[in-house]
This record gives sequence, C-alpha cells and structure tokens, in this order.
Amino acid sequence: MPSHYDHYCTGRGGLRQELVFMIRLKIHAVALCFQGVLTVLAMWGILAAPTRAAEEIRAHAVPAPYVAVKATPTQFESLGRETRLGGMLLPEQIGAAGRPVLAAPVRIVAEPAGLDGLDGSGRVVENDGNAARWEWTGESSGFRVRSVMTGECDGFCWYEITLTPRQPLTLKSLRLEIPRVADTARYLHTSSFTWGRLSQGLPEYGGRWVDAFMPYIWLGDEERGLAWCAESDEGFRLTEATHALSVTTEGDVVRFAVTLLDHEATVDSAIVLQFGLQATPVKPVSFAWRAKARILHNIRYDVAVPDANGHVPLDAMRDAGVRTVVFHDEWTDYFGRVTTPHDKELRQLIRACHERGIKLLVYMGYGLARNAPEMKGHHDAWSTMPLIPWNPTYRPEFRGFDATCARSGWSDWLVNGIDKLFSEYELDGLYFDGTTEAWRCQNTSHGCGWTDDDGNVHTTYPVLAARRMMRRIADTVHRHRPDSILDAHMSGNLTMPTLSFCDSYWDGEQFEYHTKAEKFEIPLHAFRTEFMGYAHGLDAEFLCYVDRPFAFNEAIALAWLHGVEVRPYPETLELVSPIWKALDAFGITTAQWQPYWKGSGAEARAESIKASAWVKDGKALLFVSHLKRTPVEAVLHLDRAKLGIGPGTLAARDAITAVALPVTGDDLAVKFDGMEYQLVEVRGQE
Ligand SMILES: [Zn+2]
Repeated sequence: MPSHYDHYCTGRGGLRQELVFMIRLKIHAVALCFQGVLTVLAMWGILAAPTRAAEEIRAHAVPAPYVAVKATPTQFESLGRETRLGGMLLPEQIGAAGRPVLAAPVRIVAEPAGLDGLDGSGRVVENDGNAARWEWTGESSGFRVRSVMTGECDGFCWYEITLTPRQPLTLKSLRLEIPRVADTARYLHTSSFTWGRLSQGLPEYGGRWVDAFMPYIWLGDEERGLAWCAESDEGFRLTEATHALSVTTEGDVVRFAVTLLDHEATVDSAIVLQFGLQATPVKPVSFAWRAKARILHNIRYDVAVPDANGHVPLDAMRDAGVRTVVFHDEWTDYFGRVTTPHDKELRQLIRACHERGIKLLVYMGYGLARNAPEMKGHHDAWSTMPLIPWNPTYRPEFRGFDATCARSGWSDWLVNGIDKLFSEYELDGLYFDGTTEAWRCQNTSHGCGWTDDDGNVHTTYPVLAARRMMRRIADTVHRHRPDSILDAHMSGNLTMPTLSFCDSYWDGEQFEYHTKAEKFEIPLHAFRTEFMGYAHGLDAEFLCYVDRPFAFNEAIALAWLHGVEVRPYPETLELVSPIWKALDAFGITTAQWQPYWKGSGAEARAESIKASAWVKDGKALLFVSHLKRTPVEAVLHLDRAKLGIGPGTLAARDAITAVALPVTGDDLAVKFDGMEYQLVEVRGQE
C-alpha cells in the first residue's frame, strides 16, 4: 500500500493543529432553528434536488438488516434498541442489547430554575418506517419549549430543542446531562475526526474526563453503548471552553454533561440545542459474516494475469481462504476518481475474481486529485477549509489532493459517480478511506463554519452531511448489488452515525508512527473500547503495518484474542491463512464465543497471558495470547464445565500444526518466546 499512510499523517497532522469546537446552541437566532429544520428535512430527502427524486424515494426503503422504526408519542424503537421518551422527547430510558443504559432520564438543566415545572405533550408527526418525526411543545417557569426529534432506522436520533424565554431571565448554568448506568459506561471513545483523541477504559482513566467541545462521544461496555454527537459549539457561552464536555463517576452513575453556559448571563432570545443520540450496537456482529467476507488488502490488476510460471495469483489467494480483495486507489488514474481508464483490465479482474468466488472492492477516498478533469472549477467549493492537503511523493501529479467536505457538491458527484460505476461494472462493494469522516470545515461557500459576534468564522463538523452521503452511497450500491460489502477505514474515529450503513471497519493506522523499538502496547481496555465492534455494531478488523509498531504476529496475538482479525496483505497472507483454516475446521461460526473478559474458562496466573474460547460439541478452541515481548512458560488452567468439555482425559493439540500439547490434569502447559499466540483445541478423550 504505497504511501497510503501518508494520507492520514499529512491530513491529520494539519488537523491536530486546529482548534476544536461545537453542538449547536443558538442564543439569538430563530433563523438557525429554521435552518436546522431544513437540515432535518433534507436528511429525509424531503427538500432534495429534483434530479435526485427517484433515488430519494427508493432511499425510504429500510435497508437490511434494519427494520422499520416503531414510533408512539412515548416510544422509539429501532433494531435491537428501544427508547422511552419523556419531556422534550428526551430519553427516560434506553434499552440496548438487553440492558438499560440510563441511570436516570436524560435532562436539560437550566439553573437556577429555568425549567422548573416543565409540562407539555408530544406526538408523532410522521413515520415512514425509515424515519419518524416527533414534536413536543410545553412550558416551564422560564421558557416556552419546542422539541423536534427524528429517529431513524439505525437508531440515530437528531434533536432540535428550542427554549424561548417567557421574559428575559438570568441563568447561571445550562447543560445537557446523560446519567449512565456505570457498568454500561466503562469505555470512553471520543472523536473529532482526527487522531489522538481519548479512547480507553474510563475507570482506568480515573473515572473523570473533561475537554473542550468535540463532535462525538461514546460510552459503553463490551456489548452496548450510547453515543452523543453535535456539529459545532455555536452558541456555547463558556468562560472555560476546555470544560464543555465532561464525564464524572459517582458510585453507580457515570454522568456525561455538555455545558453550554457556565456563568451568570441574561437570556432574552431563543436558545436552540441541536445534537444527536445513538444507542449501540446498531446491528448484530457475527463471526459468520466475517468468515464469508475475509478480506485481502491491496491487490492489483496483475493478480488476474498468469505469471511466468503460468500461475494466476488469484488462485493462490482463493486457496488461502480469501473471499474478498480490495484494490487500493490505483484502480483508476487520478486519486478519488469514480471512473477508470483501465476498462479492459478492470473487466478482466472482475471476471477472474468471480470465477473464483472472490468479491472485489475498489477504493473511495476523501477527496479528488487537484489535477483530475472532474475537479476543474470545483476545488474551492468542494474542499474542506482550511485545506487538508495530501502531497504524496509517488505520482503526485495524479494523487495530490485536498480533503473534500461531505456538505459540498462533491457528495452528489460521488453518489452519482458510484451509481454509474456500479451500472457499468459488476463490482462487489467499496472500500472507504476516510470517506466516513466529517472533516472539520469552515468553508462558508457550502454552508460550513459559523460566525461569532466579532465576525470570526469557527469550525463545524458536517456529521449530518457525512451521514447522509454514506446512507446515499449504501442505498445506491445495494440497489445494484444487494450482497455487497461496504468496508470503512476510519482509524481513530469510530463514529456510528457516519458508519452505521457500512458492514465493517478497519482501525489501527493511528499507531504507525510508533516504532518497533518502543515496544509499544495498546492497553487491553483501550483495545476493547475501539477495536472490537460488538458494542458498536460493525465487524472490526485490525490494521497492521509490519513493524510500525507491531510485528504481524504480535498484532494477531493482540487482536485475534478479541475475535478481531488482522487484515492481511498479499505478503502477510501466509500468516493469516492457517488461522482461517483452523477456525473453519473447528466451526467457530456456530460455536459459542467466550472471550477472556467474561471468563472464558481458560485462565493463566500470569497477567500477560489471556485466552478466549469458542465452545462447541464438547470441545473448545482456545486463542491463547502472550501480550509481552518476553519469553514465558506458564500453565493455563482449564475449567471443563465452563468450556463445555466432554468426559474423559483432557487432550490438547495445536489447532494449526496438529501437534499434541502437554496436559496435566486440567492444566495446559504453554510456552511463548515473545508477544505471540497459540491456537489450541481441547477435548475430552475417553
Ligand atoms: Zn464543509
């Protein structure tokens, strides 16, 4: 993948220098309220341009596996999640993956007494299954209140709450509070569509966190969670801008708060709060999906052509277990293009893949080459401002580009181009490189940025536009290829509102500036936060650039312990293929998964050794990992009952080499030279 990592290095290096901002609380303008309504309507396609009318109507179909939204005045239900709605349509309780996640109702606090005596009623305005819209009106001691909420089939809710003061009133504090059941809020993932934001276990961080505005916060456990998002901090009135977002732990409650006002101020015009909530997982994650998808990254046109010995490389890939291949950006000439001058080669490659039962995905980026013919006349209108440039050393005249904004005309160009691409070629899906990210933007020519009273333009994160674009792409691709794969590379930014219509994500590139010499480690709580998709609702894969910082087998030891595969390249396929074969031989897709964090039934005294298990038919397949780069010998104690092992003497064998392994009683001896894994099958032997 030549210089691919430069994209994010260059792009995000620039991002890291930016100030971070945002939600939308608007203290003066009702105009913004109207603009927000337009945004919501546009999300539903109600205000869509006439040229998109047909597509927008089709977009109302609910995409599998999502189901039609159920809406009553007090209830919102989407796949696997149900929300009881209270005052202002704010959630009183949310159930996700079988458990309640709120310790108390979500509320807006306006101190000292702005929202005392709140009373009102709500109704469902419309529901087409794809999305429902609610309205709520009421009054409190200080405000007339109007709340509009949309809830979509993937569980995403967007709120617009207008607080109109009955007369000028003095507030000391205004904030949104989300009180969480602490046990379901042990992992904190934060994102501003850059690298380096906090993503790790909350208790391990000390239970408290505070930061300036950023557009995405998720708190969850290993199976579920709840995300909050917003597009800007417009209207925030803070003396301490670095305290806009906070998480505190008080016993069994983890309280997430968005503070919009932190000092005494007179409110004499409407306040508009705009934000999103999304309970997760958005959809179920299964090993069966992954086993069917098995992705190899970075093939080229020559894999379909016989080599000097008459071998077609795709044959070896198929035999190694590959089910999907990804062609990176050079499937076409100019970076980010959705047509290719290599028509003959692409058709030949598609045919060769399909003859072997392999799916082909091609690359979509987050920009279009400055020199691409289609970019002519659009650069300034489509680009994120300030620019996020990428200046590669390899073929810069074809590949140099500036990141584009999903809120610009680039979205229509991309969706229409993908529609045409899938009309002409039998592709099997797309690989998105940064396409799902709502890059920070101040480009007022396409509606981004907001201007303060002093005339300064501030940043917005076009979350809704990125989400809408991804939904349109997903609908377009699925119309042509219902069983296609949409795979997103989004390192560091696991933002479900923009990812929920994809199938899988590939994460880990953000560590590539660490070196092998550092002996870099990802704490297990951090891995569980972001690198496994069970609680979020997408299948996860781990990205490993060899020795930056992990050796490939080190990455396997870390990731696969969590059931997370490490995506191979042609040169690393031989390290992954034997694992696939062992998993298939055992039949993990119909086995019970018992990861180490739930007590798998296989435990070592050594803290650096962990084991997860698949259990089936009286036997267990153990993924045993040693997570330190030192040699160790240890004993793994096997709990026969937990592992569901049948009667007879315990017997163990290496599931890859079939070599018998020493077992004494219920103890298995293991030995590692460094950060390594062992795949062990255990059964009872009469
Ligand atoms: Zn923009």
